[in-house]
Amino acid sequence: MIAIISDIHSNTAALQAVLDDIARRDVRRIVCLGDVVGYGPDPGDCLDMVMAATERTLMGNHDYAVLYEPSKFNIGAEAACYWTRQKLEDEPDAERRAARWRFLGSLQVKHVEEDGPLGLGNLVFLHGSPRRPVNEYVFPDDIYNAPNKVQGLFDRFDHLCFVGHTHLPGVFLEAPDFYTPDELDGVYEVDPARKALVNVGSVGQPRDHDPRAGYVLLEPGLVRFVRVEYDYKPVMSKVRAIPELDDYLGLRLQEGR
Ligand code: ZN
Repeated sequence: MIAIISDIHSNTAALQAVLDDIARRDVRRIVCLGDVVGYGPDPGDCLDMVMAATERTLMGNHDYAVLYEPSKFNIGAEAACYWTRQKLEDEPDAERRAARWRFLGSLQVKHVEEDGPLGLGNLVFLHGSPRRPVNEYVFPDDIYNAPNKVQGLFDRFDHLCFVGHTHLPGVFLEAPDFYTPDELDGVYEVDPARKALVNVGSVGQPRDHDPRAGYVLLEPGLVRFVRVEYDYKPVMSKVRAIPELDDYLGLRLQEGR
């Protein structure tokens, strides 16, 4: 099995819960779709954990923002970005500091596995969308509001494409259509003749009104959506204790929005 995680957002408690859950299963590889940092209180530890645990990590817009510059961020997200950058700069261990920056600087924006494993066909991994891998959002409402956009995205991959970025897990089909994990009973059965764009949800800041950490598993012939409970209260306290991080960034963890 392959585990795909995304949007950890400097939340080590959520990441640890997900890694523990993954460790209990027969998972051979972990792929991360980006946004390891941003918003949350533990960017350095999150980077260390992701570097150690994942086979491959793609570039998210918050990783990009911390490394280069924020693009179209709201005030709270931008303040968190600059705080994160300073926090990484303040790491006293020079080797560790350099390793984290090197890792952020090495992230690719897209990864393709042709004739992918588990009989799942061609697989594409990225953070945002197949058109603009780092920054473009694909929202469930786009199937009504922007059907041409969604169709244009489907033209850009061969079979399965895995994304994060909106923190809203689910499966887009080509009609265009969107199904939440609940509507799928947690499992999308892969159809070899049908393209699907799968949002794996968010480990560290879910926004589907379920505060549990989310990720997906690739198993032979199917994609399984997993949720893992974790204690977000200490994370909320940490956020409150850091003046540069808006209190809302903690509050939203208990509401899952
Ligand atoms: Zn994100």
